[in-house]
Amino acid sequence: MLQDEKRDLMMCKNCVLQLDKIAKIKQLTSKDLFILRHPRRSVNINYPVRMDNGIIKIISAFRIQYNDSLGPTKGGIRFHETVNQEDVVELAFLMTLKTSLVGIPYGGAKGGVKINPKELSDGELERVSRGYVREMFAFIGPKNDIPAPDVNTSPKIMGWMMDEYEKIAGEKSPGAFTGKPILLGGSFGRDSSTAKGIFFIIEEKYKKEKKEKLKVSIQGFGNAGSTLAKFLFDAGYKVVAVSDSSSGIYNEKGLNIDKLKEFKKSGGSFSDLEEELISNEDVLKLDVDILVPAALGGVISEENVKDIKAKTILELANAPIAPEVDTYLHEVGIEVVPDILSNSGGVIVSYFEWVQNSQNYYWEEDLVDEKLKKVILTTYKKVLEESKKCNLNLRTTSYFIAINRILKAEKLRGAL
Ligand code: NAD
Repeated sequence: MLQDEKRDLMMCKNCVLQLDKIAKIKQLTSKDLFILRHPRRSVNINYPVRMDNGIIKIISAFRIQYNDSLGPTKGGIRFHETVNQEDVVELAFLMTLKTSLVGIPYGGAKGGVKINPKELSDGELERVSRGYVREMFAFIGPKNDIPAPDVNTSPKIMGWMMDEYEKIAGEKSPGAFTGKPILLGGSFGRDSSTAKGIFFIIEEKYKKEKKEKLKVSIQGFGNAGSTLAKFLFDAGYKVVAVSDSSSGIYNEKGLNIDKLKEFKKSGGSFSDLEEELISNEDVLKLDVDILVPAALGGVISEENVKDIKAKTILELANAPIAPEVDTYLHEVGIEVVPDILSNSGGVIVSYFEWVQNSQNYYWEEDLVDEKLKKVILTTYKKVLEESKKCNLNLRTTSYFIAINRILKAEKLRGAL
């Protein structure tokens, strides 16, 4: 009994909800379900870090390695004051499905460090980052589990982490982390890869349409959202609304994304602009062809789903749509391209970075882009084809394909 209660703590509610939907259409044994519902390994640490004022602070952090049947686990490390184990389990579950869906030889993982990086000096941030690697050293590495950046973690932090890893390992090991600075073994094209991947899907989907007629709304103007906005703007799409955490801005004729990027670079908040301001919530409710949530999880839920008017939603953020409302969107004819497909560009190019590190031979950006396009569009077309064949929505189809590969690998390894 105690054992079961303990196991339940390791499951995230959303993972169970999604798996239950799959279990209705695919015969899953109780053993299949058990493997899919639980992470393989969860490491919780509490480690001391000296702050600039001399006081020692204990930092809580996690690493969840969800499933490694298809290869070493892979996933970012998030620095956030509210990060908790359940969120990290869900993100690790999504990474597991994502790597499986796009067919790269990885399992899925995720890490979290419970801090507010904005309150730390550069030196404190470096000590937190290096401390995390020292505590996790036994569990990570290029052949075991390869972390990358996520929310609030940057190439600079990956550089510190890789350096700490190499010091302990006593040898160069650039493939232990991805998303590193180029000079330390990072890949060309990694910084824009998530946005580029979703852009390739949008271009494929709307290849027969006139771009200037397609209205787009994007919630979130950070690394992923602003880079996608720029690609769409340059390609002639009409980006009518974007937002940051302070406000949304709207222009029915289309926003000038170059100007907005310059404005953000200078440290401004959208609420200070003289554009038409709308709430962050209203950015989601506009009557547009394409809606891209690119900020937080769970922003489309039972509270606002009936107000969504977009024709298609492409998920750039992880899990922006609550599982409870997914079916409703499908029933009212709003197509959803799910996160594990539409934001997979980042992990695909992370894989290329790891391959380049292991070969010690580095590719030009054109080659990275060409290979990314091939992987993501092959997957997109396969999901479309299967979804038509089985009359399932794109999320369920993507989960179905991903889960099949994981269970086949488990079987081949003798676990099932
Ligand atoms: P980021 O931190 O660079 O940007 C986040 C953006 O969201 C910022 O513009 C911020 O102002 C905005 N924001 C924050 N709180 C908000 C709120 N309450 N309402 C509206 N906007 C708000 O992060 P990012 O790297 O662009 O990632 C964005 C999302 O995409 C995250 O969910 C992340 O997990 C997901 N994602 C990113 C990548 C990547 O490579 N960057 C890859 C896969 C998934």
